[in-house]
Amino acid sequence: MSVYQSSRLDGLTPYTPGEQPRDRRFIKLNTNESPFPPAKRVTEAVKAESEALMLYSDPDSTDLRRAMRDVFHVPEERIIMTNGSDEVLYFAFSAFADEKRPLIFPDITYGFYPVFADLIHIPYEEIPLREDFTVDPDRYLEKGKTVVIANPNAPTGISLPLAQIERIVKTDPDRVVIVDEAYVDFGGESALPLIERYENLLVVGTFSKSRSMAGARLGFGFGSEKLIGDLNTVRNSVNPYNVNRLTSAAGIAALAENDHYMANCRKIMEIREWTRGELETLGFEVLPSCANFLFVRKRGIGGEELYRRLREKGILVRHFGKPRIADFNRITIGSMDQMESLVCAVKEILEENR
Ligand code: PMP
Repeated sequence: MSVYQSSRLDGLTPYTPGEQPRDRRFIKLNTNESPFPPAKRVTEAVKAESEALMLYSDPDSTDLRRAMRDVFHVPEERIIMTNGSDEVLYFAFSAFADEKRPLIFPDITYGFYPVFADLIHIPYEEIPLREDFTVDPDRYLEKGKTVVIANPNAPTGISLPLAQIERIVKTDPDRVVIVDEAYVDFGGESALPLIERYENLLVVGTFSKSRSMAGARLGFGFGSEKLIGDLNTVRNSVNPYNVNRLTSAAGIAALAENDHYMANCRKIMEIREWTRGELETLGFEVLPSCANFLFVRKRGIGGEELYRRLREKGILVRHFGKPRIADFNRITIGSMDQMESLVCAVKEILEENR
């Protein structure tokens, strides 16, 4: 704490991102990145666009939103593009929540939600997941509370059926429901078709996972023109050039390669199911995942210990030292080779413990 800091930072604990080690080569299964490189068309587009870097980017992301329209079949006026989906979430919290519209979200979910809320002093309530780590939709029906739900949820990977999302959205047209679909392309069910019927629904997505662009920072939101208008008010009050030229060019090219990326997602789902089978055979409990990661625990070995022992063997996974989930690790689905190495390392560790 410095003597200079404003009261806004009082008691604020910032988000801790997964490790990005530079000292040693690890098999990185800790931040839900794609194991597949970007398509050639994407790297070529970035190279070509770099010639124009002396010019600011388009503050309306016009071409990018058109490319989004063509892939997602949503009018451009209902789309906002952002610097990662973290940014659209931050804009949405700023635009749609305050003391009178407090936030509600699960107790076990994406760790950024409470951080954003604390930073801009939005009160929030964390609703416990059920014993089996599923979201209890009945607890999100209270009127006047702004809802944010990751679907599939992180770090559990568990998906809430669309009918339940619709129930939550429908309950109170005067409050906004934000559905964070960062992992939807790995087997979830998107709420996107519902935006035509519900003006209070914001669907958030990202190019970070399914489109191999975590390092480019590109996210998006779909919603009614009203919601998108409010989000643009925040955006234009913070950073109108929020999507830079290189990222925008990469995004347009990635959308032209959509089939390729969706095929990659199917491969990741296959590798996920193979990994699940192997870990279950070794006695792990594996939560049912619709995402590009598995959330796993095993009786007899603590979550922290498994994390540490895998790290010693050159494999990074994500451990959260939080109540209820301290026994778990979240394992990103990498390439088949990487997952074979993981399973091999886990076998060695269990063997060493015998
Ligand atoms: N939502 C969830 C549930 C996430 O796990 C992440 C990734 N950490 C994000 C949003 C943000 O992703 P990005 O900013 O890379 O789009």
